[in-house]
Amino acid sequence: MRLAELGEFGLIDRIKKNVAASPSVLLGIGDDAAALVPAPECVTLITCDMLLESVHFDLSFCDPESLGRKSLSVNLSDLAAMGAHPRQFLLGIALGKEVPIEFMDRFMAGVLEQAERFGATLVGGDTCASKGGIAISITALGEQRPELVLKRSGARPGDLICLSGTVGDAAAGLVALRQGVREGFLVSRQLDPTPRVAAGVALAEGGLATAMIDVSDGVLGDLGHIREMSGVGARLELAKLPLSDEYRAACGDDPYALALSGGEDYELLFCIAPGKRGEVEALFAKLALRLSVIGEITATPEVKLVTPGGGVYAPGHGGFDHFG
Ligand code: ADP
Ligand code: MG
Repeated sequence: MRLAELGEFGLIDRIKKNVAASPSVLLGIGDDAAALVPAPECVTLITCDMLLESVHFDLSFCDPESLGRKSLSVNLSDLAAMGAHPRQFLLGIALGKEVPIEFMDRFMAGVLEQAERFGATLVGGDTCASKGGIAISITALGEQRPELVLKRSGARPGDLICLSGTVGDAAAGLVALRQGVREGFLVSRQLDPTPRVAAGVALAEGGLATAMIDVSDGVLGDLGHIREMSGVGARLELAKLPLSDEYRAACGDDPYALALSGGEDYELLFCIAPGKRGEVEALFAKLALRLSVIGEITATPEVKLVTPGGGVYAPGHGGFDHFG
């Protein structure tokens, strides 16, 4: 059966049936607007990310479930980067009438699986027929106490620059997908990233970080945002970049190029005062998440990339830019 036979309201009913209730939601899907219950003494953090067919995803590469999970994950990663608890989200979707209902069912199963895993509730959205490809837009809401929210602007000279997990995997996964590979670690890092929600919240609530961002456009590009907003520079030791074995096996002659400029790893890039290092290490050990200190914030507004031999590395480009 195709969406044309189900109709817009049939589809909305089908989505609504699978959404669980939440104490933070007074009114969810079905009214003209949702009514949400704020947590005491918290501010709302709100973020929106769009995924377009043939710009952000290719249906010949990914299954509908992982597309659903990723659509939410990229938004949860933005909330995590602010140190916020995920709460609710809205789903805007445009798709062709000829799309099979099975696609939508599997996409929604992925969205709602990720929602349940990270404690977010679908509270509404918008559904349109598209004449050219699928567009997905999720708006996610999170909460945190205002004094704990982590911004890009708090980095100070002397802070240590830290990364969760490994970088370069998602970009190497995209290269592999384009070469016809359809499975494995790198491919799954591209198609089904894990937002670092617990780490982001714990860094904020422990008062451990001075600035934070998620790595969506590449380490250099995203570090550039922290540098600009904090008015600082950075010195990175390339030997400290966390690279997976799979990435090392795939990256060719220059192990640093994709690790520095490849996007979509959705790891956390954050700065800490040196005195917090032990506490941050203990936190990441508890979370069973890899932690790497990759460099230091400097006062001069430049970025210096130091090679393992002590030389200076000149990167090809800074990060992903949609209009670049
Ligand atoms: P309106 O025309 O008043 O904007 P709609 O008919 O578009 O309302 O939507 C009806 C209800 O279904 C609303 O509560 C809306 O938030 C919800 N909704 C519409 N599309 C989606 C979707 N893709 N996912 C979740 N909820 C949706
Ligand atoms: Mg509407």
